[in-house]
Amino acid sequence: MLTYIAGSGAMGCRFGYQLHNKGNEVILLDMWEDHINAIKENGLNIVGDKEDNVKIEIMKPSEAERKADFIILFTKAMQLPTMLESIKPIIKEDTKVLCLLNGLGHEDVMKQYLPEKNILLGVTVWTAGLKKPGEVLLTGTGSVNLQSIDKSGKEEALEIVDMMNEAGLNVTYDEDVLPSIWRKACVNGTMNSTCALQDCTIGEFFASEEAKSVVKTIISEFVTVGKALGVKLNEEEIVDYVFKTSVAAAEHYPSMHQDLIQNHRLTEIDFINGAVARKGKELGIDTPYCQMITDLIHSKEQILGIK
Ligand code: NAD
Repeated sequence: MLTYIAGSGAMGCRFGYQLHNKGNEVILLDMWEDHINAIKENGLNIVGDKEDNVKIEIMKPSEAERKADFIILFTKAMQLPTMLESIKPIIKEDTKVLCLLNGLGHEDVMKQYLPEKNILLGVTVWTAGLKKPGEVLLTGTGSVNLQSIDKSGKEEALEIVDMMNEAGLNVTYDEDVLPSIWRKACVNGTMNSTCALQDCTIGEFFASEEAKSVVKTIISEFVTVGKALGVKLNEEEIVDYVFKTSVAAAEHYPSMHQDLIQNHRLTEIDFINGAVARKGKELGIDTPYCQMITDLIHSKEQILGIK
């Protein structure tokens, strides 16, 4: 099964590496020249829980010629439409395309490029970090939940689940993946934006009663909008999950802090709190906290001169 990783930064390299290691034919796609050159010249370097170096094919999407059997999308959320546009030539009638990006509403974007029977939607709690071009930091364990958004695609999706499990990716076929996607979005929507705005670790932010109250209100907005869209969400369970996650990740700066504050990059805010505010508006549901957080993050992007 010829597999492309469309967006081979931190997470793309993790999934590409694990699949490649189990003997699957994998091609990494990216546009970052230094990263591409480093991997072509010196192989992909793995550091963290284990050290390794593998020869793996990498190229720009425009250079890919062979048709794909399977594609995993791993760009940042705002980069997804450009990536889908650029991989059109390698998509055939039955190419399965899996989206594991953080955030909400990616299925709406994918439907503009792909038939529903080929769309796999999912969520992952694996992590990865890029140390430098060609070098990825892999620590800890994780899992993936995924679903074919059209029932007719389930059988082929199960073959992909098997292939990914053989590569140790710990994948479950989920008959209703949206609650898990929204639950992860609640984690991102309460930790990423707030710690980026407050310039602090997760533990520092979650320490005060005021912050805990903000977190609960954000979750309540997510749950109200999600439920109105038909997603089965349990607010109490999500609050519990978010607070437990905050304890486990207390020492960490979340990825939006790394993107915005440390690396001065645009954020995925429009697909997290911003998506809830936008959907809320369409449904006539007020989401003042999500709207304000989205506005403040965009304001910070502008203060830092990020384009
Ligand atoms: P990243 O920025 O490290 O990787 C994205 C890669 O996509 C970059 O290398 C970029 O050059 C490439 N890219 C973007 N647009 C492209 C285009 N049009 N053509 C070619 N290449 C293109 O991001 P990441 O940390 O790997 O995250 C990817 C997604 O996974 C995000 O939605 C993120 O929120 C989510 N996620 C990340 C982690 C993590 O630990 N890093 C964990 C869970 C989920």
